[in-house]
Amino acid sequence: MNMEMIYQDLGISAEVLQAGDKLEQELKDRFDTFDKTAEYNQLKVIHAMQKNKVSEGCFQYASGYGYNDMGRDTLEQVYADTFHTEAALVRPQITCGTHALALALSANLRPGDELLSPVGKPYDTLEEVIGIRPSNGSLAEYGVTYRQVDLLEDGYFDYPAIEKALNEKTKLVTIQRSKGYQTRPSYSVEKIGELIAFIKKIKPDVICMVDNCYGEFVEPIEPSDVGADLIVGSLIKNPGGGLAPIGGYVAGRSDLIENCAYRLTSPGLGKEVGASLGVMQSFYQGFFLAPTVVCSALKGAVFAANLYERLGFDVIPNGRESRHDIIQAVTLGTPEGVVAFCQGIQAAAPVDSYVTPEPWAMPGYDSDVIMAAGAFVQGSSIELSADGPIKEPYAVYFQGGLTWPHAKLGILRSLQQLLNAGIVTKEQLERAI
Ligand SMILES: *Cc1c(COP(=O)(O)O)cnc(C)c1O
Repeated sequence: MNMEMIYQDLGISAEVLQAGDKLEQELKDRFDTFDKTAEYNQLKVIHAMQKNKVSEGCFQYASGYGYNDMGRDTLEQVYADTFHTEAALVRPQITCGTHALALALSANLRPGDELLSPVGKPYDTLEEVIGIRPSNGSLAEYGVTYRQVDLLEDGYFDYPAIEKALNEKTKLVTIQRSKGYQTRPSYSVEKIGELIAFIKKIKPDVICMVDNCYGEFVEPIEPSDVGADLIVGSLIKNPGGGLAPIGGYVAGRSDLIENCAYRLTSPGLGKEVGASLGVMQSFYQGFFLAPTVVCSALKGAVFAANLYERLGFDVIPNGRESRHDIIQAVTLGTPEGVVAFCQGIQAAAPVDSYVTPEPWAMPGYDSDVIMAAGAFVQGSSIELSADGPIKEPYAVYFQGGLTWPHAKLGILRSLQQLLNAGIVTKEQLERAI
């Protein structure tokens, strides 16, 4: 075996590999912690699968109305048991994370109700769902009002203001776990639990929903273990394990999930219809793999954080912080840096590695954006991917990696690209690691 040569075939020079190997050694304890979390979560998933007697029959193709779709119904119980909830809705008919969130909100809010976000501005795509930015079919159009409590300077919760914002109309509170593409911290499950406990003490009947996108399996517990009534996420992120080709989930209290089912299909029909059309094996197998896939992504995130931090770039979270989602931001500081980083990630991909990404005007963005995604599933961000808006502070957001060796290759290839472009020097690398 000649490791150096195979890396060379993939465009990685000896000095970059050496630096990477050295850093990997230094991160061993950190990686062990992630492995332990993965072990625990893997057992949780297997236990739920065994308890629900998952069998080959669960992978059968179901078409038409999908009455008695055993694979679908069993999978929903597997999700519910893994997340310790009463019920779950896990369907290919839920097209993405935004759809799952819109579903959970519109299913459980009625005209005259108020929605509260106690954690500042929600994820971009939710602005139109809620009607913060006017949009056809928004909650605002249906007479649901919205209130928001901004975060304190440290990125945490303004409890007195939250207490004031809760009122007789407040029906549902939405809490986003991951920072997404903002600069505030991502929240630990423990912190989310404290926030929920505070809210429930003031208003016990309020529904607490957590946007769990990018958070599943990062910790041994989920927000549903600390009082969340609903957790919501996308199957082309963590819980799909890279195999689910589409889908979203909502898990939580059975009455709330029932509302979601009525909203997704039709009043009266609910969960009874919605054929799974042959995707079940990938849903089960992806969920089975998800704990170790998330672990690989976490290793990649921490590896990149430490590498780029030592090279003198700003990174969020920093190299030592505990992790609550799989996103890593690296501020390269120049447009050339952002482009080189993303081109490196793309060049390391198993799919479309020969394509050179360039910055482009994208709908919904106010600057050009460069995206690197050599993915098996379009837009999948549990697969190694990066994107960077070409504007101050010239940061890239990167996430995913189905396997640790691929995440490592991608990050080393990004560094190589920066070296090749003269943005990072050999001397800088030698001094850093
Ligand atoms: C990705 C994401 C969403 C939206 O999911 P899509 O699948 O892109 O629609 C919502 N909230 C958070 C925190 C996310 O990371």
